[in-house]
Amino acid sequence: MEEKEKKEKVPRQPMPEQEPKERVKNYKEVPHGYSPETAMLEASRCLQCKNPACRNGCPVEIDIPAFIAEIKEGEFAKGIAKIKEKNLLPAVCGRVCPQELQCEKECILGKKGEPVAIGRLERFLADWERSNGRAPVRESETAAEPTGIKEASTGKRVAVVGSGPSGLTVAGDLILKGHDVTVFEAFQVPGGVLIYGIPEFRLPKAIVAAEVDYMKKLGVKVECDTVVGATVAVDELFEQGYDAVYVGVGAGLPVFMNIPGENLIGVYSANEYLTRSNLMKAYLFPEYDTPIIRGENVAVFGAGNVAMDSARTALRLGASTVKIIYRRSRQEMPARGEEIHHAEEEGVEFHLLATPLEFIGDGDGRLAGVRCQRMELGEPDESGRRRPVPVEGSEFEIACDTAVVSIGAGANPLLTKATPDIQLNRRGYIIAEPETGKTTKKGVWAGGDIVTGQATVILAMGAGRTVANSIHNYLTLGW
Ligand code: FAD
Repeated sequence: MEEKEKKEKVPRQPMPEQEPKERVKNYKEVPHGYSPETAMLEASRCLQCKNPACRNGCPVEIDIPAFIAEIKEGEFAKGIAKIKEKNLLPAVCGRVCPQELQCEKECILGKKGEPVAIGRLERFLADWERSNGRAPVRESETAAEPTGIKEASTGKRVAVVGSGPSGLTVAGDLILKGHDVTVFEAFQVPGGVLIYGIPEFRLPKAIVAAEVDYMKKLGVKVECDTVVGATVAVDELFEQGYDAVYVGVGAGLPVFMNIPGENLIGVYSANEYLTRSNLMKAYLFPEYDTPIIRGENVAVFGAGNVAMDSARTALRLGASTVKIIYRRSRQEMPARGEEIHHAEEEGVEFHLLATPLEFIGDGDGRLAGVRCQRMELGEPDESGRRRPVPVEGSEFEIACDTAVVSIGAGANPLLTKATPDIQLNRRGYIIAEPETGKTTKKGVWAGGDIVTGQATVILAMGAGRTVANSIHNYLTLGW
């Protein structure tokens, strides 16, 4: 039998995970991760293509076949070191990247059957490293002395505003290049959406904290509770001696539907709901008694990752029923397939082709239900997706005491309002040169969601990498 055929015969290895009935009662991570044996078996499926298409699908250009080859040989330390040449947040990316739309989509095995589980293998290596001690990023690094890998100090100072994946990537890349880096974060904990948005059961906070700690060990300074644009202005950062400023403030501004009743008690933006649960630790009740409505019947509007996270959080906060209400069909749902699958397994109900018209109160200012209308799909709109069209006379009501509006988010406006010489587009996002991330203000770069609108972790990291290279050129070569 040909080598290729043999490999195609090994099925994609499933990920062991908590049973749905059990996991809705806790916040522990749902998938358990591969064992070394399973990881090696999965790695054996890789064809080691001469021109690996999977690599082109990765926005930070990880040498995917190379790290998979190391797993196959049981050389896990070498495998994680290979990943970290390009990506300092592998434990995060292995868990939340939409691999099915990126590296795994390009995998040649996926053309006829199932692609190699690249994301699961990345996660395996990152987890293996956490339990077995840090692997070196470069050969000169030792676990005890991570600073040994840094280039000689340039004496230049960089301020990074925002500690989400884009800011952390800029900080990690520039500290290794010998610059002095300080990250300013508005919240009390660094990590951006990875901490305040994505729930513990999908991305444990300890994992993000470990990645941030590693940056700190490399010498990155992190100043929390600092709102740039309020506590300190961008121009003041230059006055304090910073040579360059990176703006990675994300897109976390709540967006509402502008329908009657949105001010009723019980109607949340997804941003507030998830922040209360994650950052303010309502999920750790009774240790933390954070105010949050633990609704009995919860309706979530939207069908992206944020909506799935809200719905699954509502179940864990004790809801008896959770309904996702979405105006298009299943095909158009923007959430990752795995998130939809997990939500369904856990008992979230999907009400597709329906849109809310009005929230209904109980007469006492509290939410009691929502009036909806059925939709059908018409011609494609400018996004290429078929436009939902209301069906006359199809109105119906759903009883609910909590609603979570999760139909997207806007640009965080605080810094940009206070810095008028940074030019914005008409939706309030920063205009930045795609090849460099330079903004219209000298010495200021921007990237991640504040430029693209809410996108993905890996795209934010890719933008961070581009910006770090550009800032490095500016600080060392003057362009
Ligand atoms: P952010 O992660 O938003 O970080 C920006 C940081 O800047 C924040 O910490 C904020 O507090 C801080 N900040 C804002 N203003 C200021 C200021 N003036 N001064 C100082 N600090 C400031 N993507 C995926 O790839 N996979 C997923 O599964 C996924 N799930 C998601 C689930 C949820 C609930 C959400 C909300 C998003 C999800 N995303 C997912 C999208 C992804 O998290 C974002 O695209 C990514 O985090 C953007 O990174 P960023 O660095 O641009 O900004």
